[in-house]
Amino acid sequence: MVILVINAGSSSVKFTCFDMADNKKVLATGLVERIGIEGTSMKYTNHKGDEVKGAVDVKNPTDAVKLISERLLDANHGVLKSLNEVKAIGHRVVHGAEKIKDPIIITSEVKEVIKDCFSMSPLHNPHNLNGIEACEGVLPGVPNVGVFDTAFHATMPPNAFLYGIPYNFYTENSVRRYGFHGTSHAYVSKAAATLDGRPYQSLKIVTCHLGNGGSVAAIKDGKCQDTSMGLTPLEGLVMGTRSGDVDPAVVLYLMKLKNLTADQTDNLLNKQSGVLGLAGIGSSDLRDVETAQDSGNAQCRQALEVYAYRVRKYIGAYMAALGGLDIVVFTAGVGENSATMRASIVNGLDGLGIKLDGAKNAVRSPEPRVISQEGSPVKIHVIPTNEELAIAEFTVSLVK
Ligand code: ADP
Repeated sequence: MVILVINAGSSSVKFTCFDMADNKKVLATGLVERIGIEGTSMKYTNHKGDEVKGAVDVKNPTDAVKLISERLLDANHGVLKSLNEVKAIGHRVVHGAEKIKDPIIITSEVKEVIKDCFSMSPLHNPHNLNGIEACEGVLPGVPNVGVFDTAFHATMPPNAFLYGIPYNFYTENSVRRYGFHGTSHAYVSKAAATLDGRPYQSLKIVTCHLGNGGSVAAIKDGKCQDTSMGLTPLEGLVMGTRSGDVDPAVVLYLMKLKNLTADQTDNLLNKQSGVLGLAGIGSSDLRDVETAQDSGNAQCRQALEVYAYRVRKYIGAYMAALGGLDIVVFTAGVGENSATMRASIVNGLDGLGIKLDGAKNAVRSPEPRVISQEGSPVKIHVIPTNEELAIAEFTVSLVK
């Protein structure tokens, strides 16, 4: 069964085409980027390793989906004979608020929910919807499935999702914590249970998704109990460019002190803060900050310590929330690749039963692996995330 997965962003459309019947093989993958701005280009790679890249004339998501379809059918590098082979399209959608609790077939009602969430997710939901509508136009009759970043966190209890502000803001304005990266947290926590050999439904797991954005989730018996992101992805960890948790009064103080508008403050906290703001070397990429630290930059060392300490604090808090812990999982760009950061995060947690094996941690591998000491009461796993495959699997389960 051929499934196309689409992740439509503000200026890019990423795609992966799977043959789920052939061992979930990736037939082709790639992206169209800089859509609507100068220098629009496409990258396409098929399962034989053929790579096609270069400038393209694409003005909008519909053009992008048309071009992706043409490449999939291309006589030289294509992987399909006909678009009829595509049985369904799975879409990443960021925000579904309280109305969407599971992956769902897209209908006009679901599109209304996506629209209702525009104000809470202005940078993602409008583009996600554009991607869906582009597919409806280019591949008519093929079912579209929405897999929402917020859905996995829908099992959070009210004591975890309510803010300490007047209750009517929740009931009337839907202001509460929702959480994001849910598809990744779901995927890696299930994979961790498989690697561990114990039933998913019997485990207490903390998953640390550390990419450009970052979030931690507390999962018990296969259900999310808490996660570090909130109404928006700004809450929680210190991220690449986001501040994460700050005293809300800091926002008010800075707005008054610097005469900032709401938009300027939004930009400050989402785009200029986090590792970028703390390290002060003009990069939010942890590799650059680690390199600068290694050559003696004390401000970069401090930034990395703040980053690690925040993750460590959440792991401890979520051990308390779960009443114990079986597995800590690291995933995404930083979590999968930075042995130094993983070691720094769990530094000093031996007393909580989280015991890292330094040699295992140092091994680089694209495979799921255990990096805790033999006999460590809490296992530490590195599990490469694969949100596209997770979306394809959910899509198959809905259209089968
Ligand atoms: P996104 O959140 O955009 O999906 P990723 O999960 O791909 O991002 O993570 C990207 C981040 O991963 C980069 O900004 C970089 O900081 C970090 N990263 C990738 N490889 C390494 C590495 N070898 N060492 C440290 N950090 C890395």
